[in-house]
Amino acid sequence: MIPACNICSANEFVEYRGRAGEQCANCGAKARHRIGLEVYKRHLFPLAEERPNGRILHMAPEAALYEILKDRLGGRYLTSDAAPERYPHAPCLKLFFPQDFDLFPEGYFTAILHNHVLEHIPGHYGDHLEEFTRLLEPGGRMIISVPGPYKGIPTREGGEHLATDAERLEQFLQGDHYKLLGDDFVPSLEALRGGHLIDMGISDEQRAALSVRPGKAPFFIWQRD
Ligand SMILES: [Zn+2]
Repeated sequence: MIPACNICSANEFVEYRGRAGEQCANCGAKARHRIGLEVYKRHLFPLAEERPNGRILHMAPEAALYEILKDRLGGRYLTSDAAPERYPHAPCLKLFFPQDFDLFPEGYFTAILHNHVLEHIPGHYGDHLEEFTRLLEPGGRMIISVPGPYKGIPTREGGEHLATDAERLEQFLQGDHYKLLGDDFVPSLEALRGGHLIDMGISDEQRAALSVRPGKAPFFIWQRD
């Protein structure tokens, strides 16, 4: 089987930050974008079809996924970020999470997508997950990914209190990361009230078809009851 990019159909993959085969040589999609699309096919698009008026929020909308989601979802596909200038391809609403999300009533969204967002938000991630659950309608889904989660360590937070990017790089592996999510991350999702963690993304066979190493770029799908 020759791995193929599910975003552009190319068959060539190149190294990215020391990870062999991580990035599509043609469209630039990284492993988490290719897996993300696969997960959306299974867990987002059918739900969106069932609920044609349901609003879908994509935070920090990656260019590799934005056009596909926009074409597929149309006008009820919304994007937001605290720094919209980082996403010139998308009409991002400028919203800080969680404080600016008070403006949305409970159950406003059918789905919320965020990949590698939680680690950029100051504060405790458990509070943030709870706020996301408030924003979802019954049967609505949060589809998320984070760096790691790292095995064998508890979550470490507090990067927003460090003075420099260099310190954050040392403690949290990237200058703009405020936390490292560890062993408690999945149990925290499982323990969230009002819904269930229903799936953990895709199989390693499906990963291989997308040029992704076993177990890499896990996704989590949490559904409100
Ligand atoms: Zn591609």
